[in-house]
Amino acid sequence: MAAETSEVQRAQEQFRDELLRAGVLVDGGSPGLYLRSGTFERIVAGIDRLVSEAGRSHRAPVLHFPAVMTRRDFEATGYVGSFPDLLGSIHTFGGGDREHRRMLAEVEEGGSWTEHLQPSDLMMCSAACHPLYPTRRGKLARGGEVYEVFGQVFRHEPSVDPARMQTFRQHEFVRLGDDTSAVAHRDAWVERAVDIHRSLGLDVSTEVANDPFFGRAGRIMADSQRDEALKIEIVATVSSEDRPTAITSANCHQDHFGQSFGIETAEGRVAHTSCVGFGVERITLALYRRHGLDVEAWPAQVRSLLAV
Ligand code: ZN
Repeated sequence: MAAETSEVQRAQEQFRDELLRAGVLVDGGSPGLYLRSGTFERIVAGIDRLVSEAGRSHRAPVLHFPAVMTRRDFEATGYVGSFPDLLGSIHTFGGGDREHRRMLAEVEEGGSWTEHLQPSDLMMCSAACHPLYPTRRGKLARGGEVYEVFGQVFRHEPSVDPARMQTFRQHEFVRLGDDTSAVAHRDAWVERAVDIHRSLGLDVSTEVANDPFFGRAGRIMADSQRDEALKIEIVATVSSEDRPTAITSANCHQDHFGQSFGIETAEGRVAHTSCVGFGVERITLALYRRHGLDVEAWPAQVRSLLAV
């Protein structure tokens, strides 16, 4: 196991170094923090366009979310209980001149100046769909609702694997309604997502998966998530051929967010929700892995689909 792990890590480091050498990514100074090239972003824009087109029949309202959300709403998502190791909090300075002088002295001495900061009412967003739910409190439209959302998320999981960034984007289609429509939405999107990835030449497969719930209680939650097949991941080779990476995931949340945020169907039952989330950075990296670092040498059909 250890030998296999170090083999995977070597492959991850190797792919990361190739991306850095080619200027696809620029090292941002912390594992999993990167600056991205213009070509990388054009590929991301192409993927976003394909995903939006695939969901056009929903006629869904489109929402773009900031990278932060309120602490109160963050607490209601349940993330503190399930993934305390991944969360990120925004701290700010609220002192006066005297406190500022003390803090600055610590900055200059290389001390722990962040002790002078206090938690603000904001948290880094952990999933693109989280900020949607508090806006949907109360009764949904008859037949339920679908939203297309774009969000920037943060997860504290520093890694040498370029596919495991600490901040990344998710492009989602979120369904809120009854249980049957939530499951149907998830399943329809697994098929659509597989088609999108294959049209780009990616060799993908689907897997029942679980989220990395924290601690001992978390293992039980992960097992039940798997047993009920609530999370389906679409995986492809990114950094390591031995360990495929989830590039898109489709999730049924059952009534978790409906309960937490007081969302009801038009008939007055607790709403169920589901979402498909495209990890656009990971899909982009999977494309670089599959077709090479020189985008001009990619298959003409893929370039034309992405307009790159
Ligand atoms: Zn989501």
